[in-house]
Amino acid sequence: MRNNSEGINVEDLRRDMREDDYHLDGNASGGLLREIFGREVTPEPATCGACGSTNPMGGLMVHRNAMGDVVRCPGCAAVLFVVAHTWGGYVVTFDRLRSLRLADGS
Ligand SMILES: [Zn+2]
Repeated sequence: MRNNSEGINVEDLRRDMREDDYHLDGNASGGLLREIFGREVTPEPATCGACGSTNPMGGLMVHRNAMGDVVRCPGCAAVLFVVAHTWGGYVVTFDRLRSLRLADGS
């Protein structure tokens, strides 16, 4: 059991995602990502800390259910970050996302 500071059990969320998920690509969650990061990030390169591959945010695998999104690396399926929908907004838990490059002016 691992609860983050918001009291959300990330392991439960991950398990639920595997059992009851469907795949979207990162472009499908572009609106959500824009809300979280405050800008368009789908073309921005994200690097996986597990396998080292770099892919645009829009090319990442998104597993979505009513609780939130689990965003995985398309190269090795490692969890890069988890977005939990809460009553007050979102909780983003970063896992294997090593880096996200944000270009100036976008
Ligand atoms: Zn990877």
